[in-house]
Amino acid sequence: MTFPIFELLEWYESQKRDLPWRKTKDPYKIWVSEVFLQQTQVSRVIFYYERFLEKFPNIESLANSNWEEFFPYFQGLGYYSRGKNMLYAVQYIQQNFCGVFPKEVEELQKIKGIGKYTASAIASFAYGKNVPAVDTNFIRVLSRFFNIKKGEVQKTAEQMFKIVKIPDISLLNHAIMDIGATICTAQKTDCSRCPLQKKCYFFKNGQEIVPRLPARPRRVIQQEYAILVLYQDGKYFFQNNAETKNKKAFLSFPQIIRPTGKNIRHLLQEEAIQKWNIHISVRPPFFTTDIPHANTFLRLSFSRAQIVSGNLLHSAENVWISPKNLEENRYDTYSLKVIEKLKTMKIPSPQ
Ligand code: SF4
Repeated sequence: MTFPIFELLEWYESQKRDLPWRKTKDPYKIWVSEVFLQQTQVSRVIFYYERFLEKFPNIESLANSNWEEFFPYFQGLGYYSRGKNMLYAVQYIQQNFCGVFPKEVEELQKIKGIGKYTASAIASFAYGKNVPAVDTNFIRVLSRFFNIKKGEVQKTAEQMFKIVKIPDISLLNHAIMDIGATICTAQKTDCSRCPLQKKCYFFKNGQEIVPRLPARPRRVIQQEYAILVLYQDGKYFFQNNAETKNKKAFLSFPQIIRPTGKNIRHLLQEEAIQKWNIHISVRPPFFTTDIPHANTFLRLSFSRAQIVSGNLLHSAENVWISPKNLEENRYDTYSLKVIEKLKTMKIPSPQ
C-alpha cells in the first residue's frame, strides 16, 4: 500500500503546528526541545525552551555551567535525571566531537540521555538524514494506516523513508507527528480531515474512533414521599392547603416525607395515629412516580388505606369528597396525577 506523501505534505504546509524548534536547524536547539518534550506537554515546553535558550544559547554556554546554574532553568519540567544527562551530554560532545553534535544516528545514540527516537529526530530535523523519527504519535498513525503491529512500525518506516525523494525529509517526520498529535489521536480519529484517509486501512475498514460523550450523571433521589390515599365510605380524604378559609379549597392527599429505608406502611400508620388519632390498614403502594428536580428527583409512592378504628371527621382542614364531586375542587399537581390514575383502576374508582 502506498503512503500518500504529497497529500500529507500539502496538508502539513497549511495545518502544521507553529513550534519554535521547527524554525531552526541547529542540532543543539533541536536536542534541547526533544529533551524537554519527553514527558512534558508541548504548550508547557515552549516557555521553558525559550527561556533556557536565552540563558544557554549554545553547547559551549551549557558546558561551562554547573547544576546550580542550570537547575533553575529546568526546574518544573520534572524527571531531573534528564537535566543531569543534559550536562553530561554537552561535556561528552565537547570532548569527543569538538562541541558539534554528530550527524549519524548511531553516534548520537552514544550520548547520555539520547535514545533511538531523539537521535533520529536530531539527525532528521537538523541534518536532513533520511531516517524516521518514530515516537508514539508516529507509531499510532502508521500502525493504523498500514494495519501493522506497533513493533513493526520502525522497520516499515525505515523502508518507506529509504525510497522517499523529497528536498526536506524532516517535513515528513513533522507531518506524521502532527497527524498523530492532532487528528489521529489515541482517543479519537478525525478521518474526515485526514489527508491519509483514502488509503488508510483503519478508515477503510470502518474502525474510526468516535469519542464517547461523557455519561450523563445518574439522577439520584433527593427526597421520597409516602402519599396516603385514604378511602372510606365511598369518599376520598384530602387535606385543605388553602391559606385562608375564604379561599377556595386547595386539596392534596396527605404527603409524608419518607426517611430512607423506612417501611411505608408503618410510616403512614404512625402518621395517622399521631395526626388524627386513627388506626388505618395500608396496602402496598399502587403507584410510584419520579418528579425530576435539577440533577435529582423526588419519588412519590401512593398507598391506599382504610380506617380500622377511630374517626376522622369532615372539617375545613380535613375534607372528604365523593368521586362524583372530585371535579369541583382544586388539587395540587401530584394529587391530580393520582386522581387520573385512580380513574383507570377498578378499586377504588372515583367514577
Ligand atoms: S484516516 Fe483516520 S485512522 Fe487513518 S491515519 Fe487518518 S485519522 Fe488516522
